[in-house]
Amino acid sequence: MNELRVTRLLLVEDDDDDYILARDYISEIPFLDISIERATNVEDALSALSRETFDLCLVDYRLGAMTGIDLLKSAKENGFSSPIIMLTSQSDEELDQIALDAGAADYLVKGELNAAQFARSIRYALARRDVESERVERVKAEQEVQAKDRFLAHLSHELRTPLTAILGYTEILLHTDAEHQTELEVIHRNGKHLLNLLNDVLDLSKIAANKLELLNVDVDINALLADVYTLMRMAAIDKGLQLNIHAPNLLPKSIKADPTRLRQILINLISNAVKFTDKGHVDITVSCSSDGVDNALIFMVQDSGIGISQVQIEQIFKPFVQVADVVTRSTGGSGLGLAISNELVRRMGGNIRVTSQLNQGSCFSVRIPIDADSDQTRVPLDVVAHAEAPSPLSDAPTLAGHVLVADDLRDIRTLIGHLISRLGPEVHFARDGQEALQKIASHQDAKQTELQPFDVIFMDIHMPIMDGVSAVKRIRATGIKTPVVALTAANMKGSREHFLTQGFNDVLSKPVDATLLTRTIKQYLPAKSENVARADNIDAPSHQKHALIVEDDADAAQAISALLQALGTHTHIEATPQGAIQALKSDTPWSHVFLDLHLGQDDGLTVADYIQLHRAKLKIVIMSGADLNPSTQNKYQFYATLKKPIQLSELSNLFT
Ligand code: ADP
Repeated sequence: MNELRVTRLLLVEDDDDDYILARDYISEIPFLDISIERATNVEDALSALSRETFDLCLVDYRLGAMTGIDLLKSAKENGFSSPIIMLTSQSDEELDQIALDAGAADYLVKGELNAAQFARSIRYALARRDVESERVERVKAEQEVQAKDRFLAHLSHELRTPLTAILGYTEILLHTDAEHQTELEVIHRNGKHLLNLLNDVLDLSKIAANKLELLNVDVDINALLADVYTLMRMAAIDKGLQLNIHAPNLLPKSIKADPTRLRQILINLISNAVKFTDKGHVDITVSCSSDGVDNALIFMVQDSGIGISQVQIEQIFKPFVQVADVVTRSTGGSGLGLAISNELVRRMGGNIRVTSQLNQGSCFSVRIPIDADSDQTRVPLDVVAHAEAPSPLSDAPTLAGHVLVADDLRDIRTLIGHLISRLGPEVHFARDGQEALQKIASHQDAKQTELQPFDVIFMDIHMPIMDGVSAVKRIRATGIKTPVVALTAANMKGSREHFLTQGFNDVLSKPVDATLLTRTIKQYLPAKSENVARADNIDAPSHQKHALIVEDDADAAQAISALLQALGTHTHIEATPQGAIQALKSDTPWSHVFLDLHLGQDDGLTVADYIQLHRAKLKIVIMSGADLNPSTQNKYQFYATLKKPIQLSELSNLFT
């Protein structure tokens, strides 16, 4: 590989005859184009080496008062890394060793030298230099990648931790501070937007650095789809859209895949479909294609929304591309979702296809190949059974009925809706008193529609267009007796009597306590018969959960603690692994440990190790700022892994 370029050689020789001899030998070396510079003393040689780049240096041992060894040592000290070959007039084993120890590539005796030997020595030295510089380059590149990884993990953690405090407190204030709802909602929305951007940018940089690792574990298809469907259904219902899911044929019970990434892709496509559709429906179709050789799972997300033009379709998978449009601008995405999903699917060996028609709707389909050795058991799609199956944490009753939740704040509406729907009933939403009245009227008139009247209504007090008190007065004026529960901000405490006289049946203060909400709703809804026994359990004191929070950032810890308390959980904070272990040894009947893995200089996994050894039944919920590496996940089998900032709705999933 050196044959093609000029090799620059510095020949340090004070004797003219020896110089000419060496130069002749060098010029005879076949296939090597060598240009020679000469220096006659150590000083000149060192200055040439520091001034210019040489591929090789040949040094005579005797150089006036100094020796080639002096030159060798100084050159190496100055950082000269190319090979240096020592020339001497006589064979001397001791000197030979000293030269090699000082870093010489070879040691040649002038009198015994012939052209072939000379050539061999030079070629060998150059080849070794190439191998060495390749190794150095590789190590350097690896170190750079590692440094970048560390930087990203750090950055992610450092950005997420303060966001936990910002979003957590905002969520709490949203529940309690009736006066500043609009401002708080702006903070919350922007905080969440920042978080989504952060997630997307980190994902993209991981993809760019080829550092995105995909897990390959068993994924239960029905459980995954139920999870995605339950989550997205709330967003769809909230926009008045129908979200349907069906599978024309049986599906594999489980496939080998990365569940988090698969979920991310599906959520990206479905939330886009919901985001860009104002009327109609979003249909998810899951099918399995198998021609014997090529097995694949196909997820199709079809909407009846604004559609995408042919020109735009080419663009949407590129990072930061959003189809410029009034609608898109108000929806506040990052334009990175599809770029990431597309890359994730590509890494899974599949592809995403789009067909779309402007103003008619779009259809995104994802094709993911399934491993031949995936489980071959086939099952029908069953999101309902999986969605309603109580989580291992929950002893919640399964209730039947129809509930209307009226609140102008989307996040609160969906959170309360989520808490209720996990208990069993079907949830509907309204954004203000007037919309609530319309929905109540259409549901009441069962003859005209197939809708069922509501069994209970949860009504926020402060709403635009028509507030909760006016709405309940109108409801009562029309003779409708459906129970209505007022949702009030905490600073309205004491006015319970007042609300009851206005026509409300009950009052719940925000932040809504999950246990209280359950208790209240139970009074108005029938339990599904087979679950009556379980339903009676819900009020038992043993259901009060005790959570240990292990987090060194005081603000983040307080925010998480406040969120957990809002869900009716007792909390205790420790900032160090030692403190946490001490707390675990106490009498407190801990149910969960919320564990940050970066505790200053300490590793949170110490606590996980302790729990694994002594309190194996305790549920560890990891609160991580960066992605958890797959082997850690496998080793500890964490109950849940929540990415910071932790949000109320995620926590409520763990506790309801
Ligand atoms: P984001 O949704 O954050 O803007 P995406 O990468 O997910 O970013 O989508 C890029 C763009 O593609 C969107 O801004 C939108 O213009 C267009 N798009 C994606 N999905 C749909 C859809 N279902 N209907 C219409 N337009 C869509």
